[in-house]
Amino acid sequence: MDLIVHSLYSNKEVFLRELVSNASDALDKLRYLSVTDPDLLKDGPELDIRIQTDKDNGIITITDSGIGMTRQELVDSLGTIASSGTAKFLKTLKESQEANVDSNLIGQFGVGFYSAFLVSDKVAVSTKSPKSEKQYVWEAEAESNSYTIREEKDPEKLIPRGTRLTLYLKRDDKGFAHPERIQKLLKNYSQFVSFPIYTWQEKGFTKEVEVDEDPAEVKTGGDGEPKKEVKKKTKTVVEKYWDWELTNETQPIWLRTPKEVSTEEYNEFYKKTFNEYLDPLASSHFTTEGEVEFRSILYVPATKKEDITDRKTKNIRLYVKRVFISDDFDGELFPRYLSFVKGVVDSNDLPLNVSREILQESRIVRIMRKRLVRKAFDMILGISCSENRDDYEAFWENYGKFLKLGCMEDKENHKRIAPLLRFFSSQSNEELISLDEYVESMKPEQKAIYYIAGDSLSSAKNAPFLEKLNEMGYEVFTFD
Ligand code: ADP
Ligand code: MG
Repeated sequence: MDLIVHSLYSNKEVFLRELVSNASDALDKLRYLSVTDPDLLKDGPELDIRIQTDKDNGIITITDSGIGMTRQELVDSLGTIASSGTAKFLKTLKESQEANVDSNLIGQFGVGFYSAFLVSDKVAVSTKSPKSEKQYVWEAEAESNSYTIREEKDPEKLIPRGTRLTLYLKRDDKGFAHPERIQKLLKNYSQFVSFPIYTWQEKGFTKEVEVDEDPAEVKTGGDGEPKKEVKKKTKTVVEKYWDWELTNETQPIWLRTPKEVSTEEYNEFYKKTFNEYLDPLASSHFTTEGEVEFRSILYVPATKKEDITDRKTKNIRLYVKRVFISDDFDGELFPRYLSFVKGVVDSNDLPLNVSREILQESRIVRIMRKRLVRKAFDMILGISCSENRDDYEAFWENYGKFLKLGCMEDKENHKRIAPLLRFFSSQSNEELISLDEYVESMKPEQKAIYYIAGDSLSSAKNAPFLEKLNEMGYEVFTFD
């Protein structure tokens, strides 16, 4: 907890993003399960998030009507930091410190449930799963190392389904319990949540009320009688009341028209969705119609992915008719060598209960896969054509290995991958050369492309075999 609190001291407000994203995940899970089991919605058809603030007492409550947790799930999910997103955060934190990532960026990583304690002395999670008859309350204080779980007995606190978090704010953080403050933070953090978020706001409407005239001012006629035609005076007053107010726009960004979405919005969406802290190198938003209909936004990350063999990357979020299905199907939608591509894919043609088996068999998926792969190539080609040569060098440094693998594995796309390849050569200093560039500077009589491999680039470059070719002015690709 100490480490979290210290590393996030100036980014305390991330707690709200984390808790709202958990609420949104819980709603996603429920919506997905309710497709095959509509009964799950019988306790309340509304899928939303409601946030109420009590600024006098410094309390925030965040209520979602999502999947909730059983008693056992409370123990498993919130019982230890190890099973929480917070453990992932600590790992990323460590890596980013090794990579010298600016600590201001840290607020953009996922921090998980425990971020609630950044601002709270005490947190209560009252939750009702449709799988359980009873509602349970998990409670813990920042100071202690333990938690309690009890059954919710207070009839006023029972909820039909979902989870209610109550944050008892620390003295210095009570400012977060101001309705305007919460609304502002939400607008900033949660613009891509696809469920409505309501906040409890004070509102006012104006109305005209009659006022009693001051008797001293009552005008009298010459005879001392009050004039008959004196009009009753009115004044405008503001009537105050409290009500829920919708705070976010819920249309998913990929359903919008690409022309109307700015690069900043695409980048924000990427960073929020994939917990990234750097803008992507490229993005591509497209719709395909005809035989198979789907919409997608794809991204090339700017951060390095180490493990080429790791197929379970959770890089592609699959939706069917806007319902989030899974982020576990990347391998079915992209070949291994493109597993670094991130994005969302939303199809109207797949069944909602789609499984890995269905995906592997499906003709629709084969067509989708083909289109997605082509779009990924276009996106990469776009980076290679950019004015800024550094962009592609950065890309190549991170993912060059992947494309070389693709060139060997994917015969069908050979011609698309070849122009994307880059190599060092005997004549280049630090600069990467494409095959086209090589061919352009070939000697008139030169018939072949030459390459040499060594333990390192410099040993390849200094190999005695090259002397002759160097004399002839032939360029040689160097591999390590
Ligand atoms: P992550 O979201 O990365 O899994 P968190 O620390 O944010 O990690 O949350 C831990 C777990 O607690 C979640 O995976 C989920 O199972 C459970 N959880 C948290 N908030 C809610 C909620 N509002 N409704 C249902 N389950 C929740
Ligand atoms: Mg989370």
